[in-house]
Amino acid sequence: MELTRYMKAFPSDNRPGRTLLYNTRRCALLDVSDELLERIRAEKLADREQETLMKLGFLVQSRVLEREEMRTCFERVNRDSRKFNAIVTLTLDCNLACPYCYEGNFRGHFSMSEATANLLAVRLIERMDEGLSLCVTFYGGEALLKQQLIQQIAGELSGAARERNVNFEFNVVTNGTLLTRKVVESLLPLGLKGAKLTLDGPRDIHDLQRPFVSGRGSFDAIVSNIRETWDLLPLQIGGNYTRHNYHRYPELLDWFLKEGITPEQLDMVVFSPVTPRSDGSVVSGDLSSVCSCSDEPWMIQASMFLRAEILNRGFKTMKMKPSGCMVEFKNDWVVGYDGGLYKCPAFMGDESLRVGSLAGGIEDYSHSHGMDIWKCDECLDCSYLPLCFGGCRFLQRLRTGSIDNVDCQRTFFDAALEEIITQDLAAREKQ
Ligand code: SF4
Ligand code: SF4
Repeated sequence: MELTRYMKAFPSDNRPGRTLLYNTRRCALLDVSDELLERIRAEKLADREQETLMKLGFLVQSRVLEREEMRTCFERVNRDSRKFNAIVTLTLDCNLACPYCYEGNFRGHFSMSEATANLLAVRLIERMDEGLSLCVTFYGGEALLKQQLIQQIAGELSGAARERNVNFEFNVVTNGTLLTRKVVESLLPLGLKGAKLTLDGPRDIHDLQRPFVSGRGSFDAIVSNIRETWDLLPLQIGGNYTRHNYHRYPELLDWFLKEGITPEQLDMVVFSPVTPRSDGSVVSGDLSSVCSCSDEPWMIQASMFLRAEILNRGFKTMKMKPSGCMVEFKNDWVVGYDGGLYKCPAFMGDESLRVGSLAGGIEDYSHSHGMDIWKCDECLDCSYLPLCFGGCRFLQRLRTGSIDNVDCQRTFFDAALEEIITQDLAAREKQ
């Protein structure tokens, strides 16, 4: 038996003689004494101790085999996956005019046609015929500007799922202004399971960053919809902050509590830094692809500060979990309004990153999207590999113009992982 290489040890500052072991592959946490840690390293464990450590993934049969398992892990995930996920862009139109919109360079009055919607349903029903369950995320622009299209597509897919005895569900990524109780009630029978909406901090910041096209602030409309709908479906609140305003975002949480919007009423709260537009042109906000992180010191400080503020008030937030970029997952598609296929919402609008179409199928994107960039010695030996897998292809492309190297997240994890773990532990103890 050997100690896994996908593990970090954090000696405790305030509890001498104790160390937290964190397995990045299983996200398992173990609080051990120095004496036990020494015996683990010296391979002098009782059978039961060894069994427990194996179950939790801290001990493995062979580090060489484990490394090979990691190198081929997405082949197994893709072979065994029984679920198909499609992010479907219904329109690039929006009723808000956020100055930082990351789709700003390709937004416009473009919406999915009836013919494309029909072809989409055909392609997704083909996946059901393969026995896969289906999860669709309706996306925009503002997806709820196209409620009729959602009704049509979801109606067809839910009927097909019933006939085939497979599961179908859908979510909406929305700015929240149109998510009324009536809208939610009409979509629930068709398979609506959750909504993700955005509030950029307290009212004055939000209204500046997310005004209606008319210039009027959208804060009150969104909050009114949260009040109307929280009891019908899980709501995830996102928010985009900058270096200059992140310290004010806890005011939103306090306002929620004062107004009676409690942690139980929200699925989770996740604040993310504003990132460059999809073409890198202007600083803007990435509203949905929160899987990226950055190694800029202020961003690390801001994300740790906000994470703590969210948890301290009893709200839930994103947990650390093994995750890879969408490019790794065969059963994940992003469908453009015109039927173009992509591997990340941030890639829409760039023809060179289109990987096919609903009509013609998907092409080989392994080279253009850097599928193997993390299969190098440095990454395969890195403790953070299960949490990173080469980082975000979008951010790497923004920095260098191509996806020919990893977006290394080592600086972020070195600075933040221990704090994230202790934040989660404290939150769990509080509960
Ligand atoms: S490129 Fe990959 S990791 Fe980056 S935002 Fe898109 S899906 Fe997420
Ligand atoms: S990109 Fe960096 S942090 Fe990620 S696995 Fe490779 S070496 Fe580790």
